[in-house]
Amino acid sequence: MPAGRAPQRGRDPSLGRFLVRQTQAVRRHVPALLERTDRRHLRPGRRSHGRRRRGRAVSPSCDGVATRAAAAVLPGRQRIVRVRVPVLGERRTRAFRRSDGQRPGLGAVLHRPAHAGRRVTPLHMARRDNATKEFSIMTSTASAASAASTRRQTRETSPTPFFAERLASRGSMLYGGDYNPEQWPESVWRDDMRLFKQAGINEVTLNVFSWAQLQPSEDEYDFSKLDRIVRAVSDAGMSIVMATSTGALPAWMSLRHPDVNRVDERGRKMRHRERHNACINSPTFRKYSAALAGKLAERYGRLDNLVAWHVGNEYGGMCWCDTCAKAFREWLRRKYGTIEAVNEAWNTAFWSHTYHGFDEIFPPNELGDTTSWGGKAILGGFSLDYQRFYGECVLDSYNEEKAAIRKFDPVNPVTTNMMGTYPTYDYFRWRAGANPADGTVGDADAANVSTTGDATAAADNTVGNATDATAPTVGGVDVVSWDSYPRPDTDPANVAFCHELMRGVGGGKPFMLMEQTPSRQNWMAYNTQKRPGQMRELSWQAVAHGADTVQFFQLRQNRSGCEKFHGALISSDGTDRTRAFKECAELGAELRRVSGRVLGSRVVPARVALVFDWQSRWAIGMSAGPTISMDYVAEVQRWYRELHRRNIPVDIVGPYDSYDAYDLVLAPCLYMMRADLVERLRAFVSGGGRLLLTALSALADEHDSLYQGEIPVPLRDLTGVWVEETDALDPSEHVVPLRFAADDTDSAGDAAAGTSGDAAESHGRVLFDVLEADEGTTVLATYGSEYYAGTPAFTFRPSAGDGGVFYAATFPDDAAMPRFVDALLAGTGITGLTDAPLIGTVERSAVVPDATVPADLRTVDLEVTRRFAADGTTFTFVLNPANAPVSVDLPAALAGRDLLTDATVTPGRRVLPPFAVLVIESK
Ligand SMILES: [Zn+2]
Repeated sequence: MPAGRAPQRGRDPSLGRFLVRQTQAVRRHVPALLERTDRRHLRPGRRSHGRRRRGRAVSPSCDGVATRAAAAVLPGRQRIVRVRVPVLGERRTRAFRRSDGQRPGLGAVLHRPAHAGRRVTPLHMARRDNATKEFSIMTSTASAASAASTRRQTRETSPTPFFAERLASRGSMLYGGDYNPEQWPESVWRDDMRLFKQAGINEVTLNVFSWAQLQPSEDEYDFSKLDRIVRAVSDAGMSIVMATSTGALPAWMSLRHPDVNRVDERGRKMRHRERHNACINSPTFRKYSAALAGKLAERYGRLDNLVAWHVGNEYGGMCWCDTCAKAFREWLRRKYGTIEAVNEAWNTAFWSHTYHGFDEIFPPNELGDTTSWGGKAILGGFSLDYQRFYGECVLDSYNEEKAAIRKFDPVNPVTTNMMGTYPTYDYFRWRAGANPADGTVGDADAANVSTTGDATAAADNTVGNATDATAPTVGGVDVVSWDSYPRPDTDPANVAFCHELMRGVGGGKPFMLMEQTPSRQNWMAYNTQKRPGQMRELSWQAVAHGADTVQFFQLRQNRSGCEKFHGALISSDGTDRTRAFKECAELGAELRRVSGRVLGSRVVPARVALVFDWQSRWAIGMSAGPTISMDYVAEVQRWYRELHRRNIPVDIVGPYDSYDAYDLVLAPCLYMMRADLVERLRAFVSGGGRLLLTALSALADEHDSLYQGEIPVPLRDLTGVWVEETDALDPSEHVVPLRFAADDTDSAGDAAAGTSGDAAESHGRVLFDVLEADEGTTVLATYGSEYYAGTPAFTFRPSAGDGGVFYAATFPDDAAMPRFVDALLAGTGITGLTDAPLIGTVERSAVVPDATVPADLRTVDLEVTRRFAADGTTFTFVLNPANAPVSVDLPAALAGRDLLTDATVTPGRRVLPPFAVLVIESK
């Protein structure tokens, strides 16, 4: 270490000497180090990281005017409205509908003043009256939770999470984010530290994109500026999340070692460019990225105020270069052994693709076996294997950096920032304890053990000689962190879905909200500011779903570059007078005051699990047919939203997880089923669990080969139906009415039947399986038109106990969905945290005069979630996601003390302000 460049740290002569002393002490006394680490009082601080820019589809129908208008009157759950908006003096009518079928979101744009003449007419609306009735039926049948309840009681309850343990001594959550002071003169840093303290910031994420500065050439490193930055933030009492800077290459490396540059899906070799630009299999990249991570850990890994490592940044994209081709062939050799086995797995007899040697295989980009129209796979197994291969390589690269860090820092958690439903990698395989070699992923318990054991094992290995320590054998992320950037029109339930998914990736443990914007994004068509109070509400929403940190991108606005218009705590004016700064400071004070109470608590155990499978998503997306109107994420989210609306706790689980702890598992569009997944699902149903399958479920094996036999082949006997054929209709033109058996028989109380309601407004969409039901299979609904009118559209096949398999032969529309979910829940005793959806009534609209808003649109579904602490304390979060005051009847179940105001929350009618947050503490 170039001690001469070491910075001052407090009263010590140099940070360098301080680090040397720490390292020497560690080598002598690693056990003592661990003890010290447990005791140590980490200074307040926080960090965040790079920002997600790619992968966000722009909703084509969301023009600014229509979006504002629609959102303005959609504080509830309605999906489609027709908006009459004056535009440039003329009137035009636009149908507002998300391209993915999701509801338009709330709040963000409820600020707009009313336009005279605006008129809003609902096309489809949730049937509140039926919903209310159905909930009463549901709760009245809440008796038969026996076997499932027994299973649930065996679940893990409340082991204190590893990361939370480490943060507990701080007394409050991490609050901070990405800080890039290298872009400003040092005189500005002093102002930053003052403003950070004023805003309650207690953490900074450093060194996200500094590789080119840190390493000017192959054998030259310069940490002098980073040393000064570390000293400045340490002296200011900030905690540090240290990034490894490997998310963007130095230009010299791209020039001298072209193997680091990617080849894209069209075969084009890249030059040095933007970020996230390395071929993950480049030997040069692997060598220098791990070396840099190791040098950073050697230099900064013993800092008292270091709280976590951040490897890379928002890993994304793929490469199709010759290096990757070679590595892919080796991967195939390891996986299949022989070329004959490859041919068999991929069914290469199709279109004369039989291979006679591994060297005949090239990555399937558009020069090869991916279509130029829609990116479809010629051979599904081939393209899936490349997707799996590349994801494993990215994880390998992450693990190499992690191992390099572990040689010098056996304690601090290592993570990288994920991006919710980002499509390219199977995040479940990044869970600590995962085994990428066989595709298995540990369950929550295993992940806990692995993660905790990670540091312990590393410490054991480092006794006597930290520098020569063997890297921990367990890779993956020690704590999940992710970047949340909802669009202004994103449904709050879909934001919640992403939080649940990220928590699920971590095996249920709390996670880090690594990034969010304090105010606005910069990569959208219209970068709408978060409305007053909305940033706070979204921050608490993350906490409500399991976040133990609240972090931003970014703390100071970029001077230039393509992120210069992205929001920040400190804007280019450098003052504390901006709305964003003031709101951040208010939240900082609030978190400092109360977040320590919530820190380390867990989200309440769910009885319902929803399976999310990246690999089924890939396979569906790669398949040519049966429909282009198939959005896997949107279809899964539709089921989630209905559960979320009822405030029912839901865990989102992967295809590798155990389902034994749940009463109900929803597996919509679970297209691809490995043999082990089939067995776990069969065991779950045989054990009394309830399983939902839908059209496009259980069709293919892991090679995207269709199972041969009566569909759904591997679960044919348990579903009690045979899918004879599947029809696809353009959902923008055609839907098919559904007739519920309960409407004919008036058997609303039947545990297995859908509840009564107006079937005329219920439809199936997109896909329509034509079923033949076995004897003993209950038909809950039938089609009302097309040549399959009168045939089953929704069925239930009972099995052991209360269990069985529901089969939804079509995708229910918004009116039908509550009835489908009623059937899933009937007789299980599963209820929400409130007995019914907590619906608020908009007191007044800031956007549209009350008289112009249809009465049924003046409602808001409030979100209710709960965490519980090891001492039995529960924290119930009640959120108003709308930018409007709403009146609501709080049920007795929500009585308690509001942690945020210290006021007593009593049942009864009350008005919640726009974006209101209640954190009700009770025991
Ligand atoms: Zn490559």
